[in-house]
Amino acid sequence: MISLVDLTAQYHSIKNEIDAAVSSTLESGHFILGPQVAKFEESVASYLGVKHAIGLASGTDALVIALRALNIGEGDEVIIPAYTFFATAGTVMSVGAKPVIVDVDPQSYQIDVSKIEAAITSKTKAIIPVHLYGHSSEMNPILEIARKHDLKIIEDNAQGFGAEYLGKKTGSFGDIGCLSFFPTKNLGAYGDGGAVVTNDPALAERMRMLRTHGWKKKYYSEEVGYNSRLDALQAAILQTKLPYLDAWNEKRRELSKRYNEHLSPLGIVTPVERNWAKHVYHLYIIRVEKRDELQAFLRQKGVASEVYYPIPPHLAEPCRKFGYKEGNFPHAEKAAKETLALPLYPELTLEQQDEVIAAVKEFVSK
Ligand SMILES: *Cc1c(COP(=O)(O)O)cnc(C)c1O
Repeated sequence: MISLVDLTAQYHSIKNEIDAAVSSTLESGHFILGPQVAKFEESVASYLGVKHAIGLASGTDALVIALRALNIGEGDEVIIPAYTFFATAGTVMSVGAKPVIVDVDPQSYQIDVSKIEAAITSKTKAIIPVHLYGHSSEMNPILEIARKHDLKIIEDNAQGFGAEYLGKKTGSFGDIGCLSFFPTKNLGAYGDGGAVVTNDPALAERMRMLRTHGWKKKYYSEEVGYNSRLDALQAAILQTKLPYLDAWNEKRRELSKRYNEHLSPLGIVTPVERNWAKHVYHLYIIRVEKRDELQAFLRQKGVASEVYYPIPPHLAEPCRKFGYKEGNFPHAEKAAKETLALPLYPELTLEQQDEVIAAVKEFVSK
């Protein structure tokens, strides 16, 4: 069986270092914040070229805390792409605001910048571009629209850690960038984790307060916050893994290129990499009309695959109250029916990849 991702393969490749980091954290007696988290936050900030990084309990919390820090809530609107993980929409709703959805470019799966301005109203407060699958959104036009209409930018960079837009790291463009360290993300913890990054010291301070009950001083809450801290153990693990991120992303790029070379000639739609982007292939996504049949066939052949995502946010139950319906965002809806992720992770061997390719070939020639 070839799995979509193999987290133990990565663990085994750096087992000694990980075990040492875990054991030294256990010996340190520091489990909540403390030196491990502070060190990792510095490393993340320096990797992305931003001033502040704040470790949180998850990528979902990162979006919530970013929205809260920008005072977005009841009565506000936030523009998001029509094709993304539900958390992008769900977090906007959880702070009381309305997600206003804009369709995606059917090739890059990024928010279609030509459709953003038509979605702006007097209630719009922010845009959340999502660097979906590890490909960057088109940041310059988005930043320009934000400047023109006085909107904030929160980058959902959960899938794009290490990706670039015109040579600069995604997550470093907006007022706030959000990261997830969910185990399968390009930089994954062994549990949940996330972070927000910003260049604004006031926002950084506010987000630090929000992650611990709104405290400026211990036990003195200045506002209602959360308990949303990155575990020291996860920080130690992530600190150990971060130096490998570029090499792992490079591996993802090489394997994706190899998939492209074998699958494009079969008439399969393979991922694009726009000339402004450095894609880090969090997911390797192909597109086929007979997607469900291909997935069933691959399963039979012992090859895992997955649909990200079978339902676009506007058609999800919690968004019904906004009156969205089938047909509103045709590119996202079509993508939900035709896209399929094939096995991809840095430790995938060429032999395994060949098996995946052979299985797809066999399906196409049936
Ligand atoms: C994973 C992900 C999130 C949420 O991150 P968690 O750490 O799982 O909470 C948000 N947005 C996108 C696009 C994601 O892929």
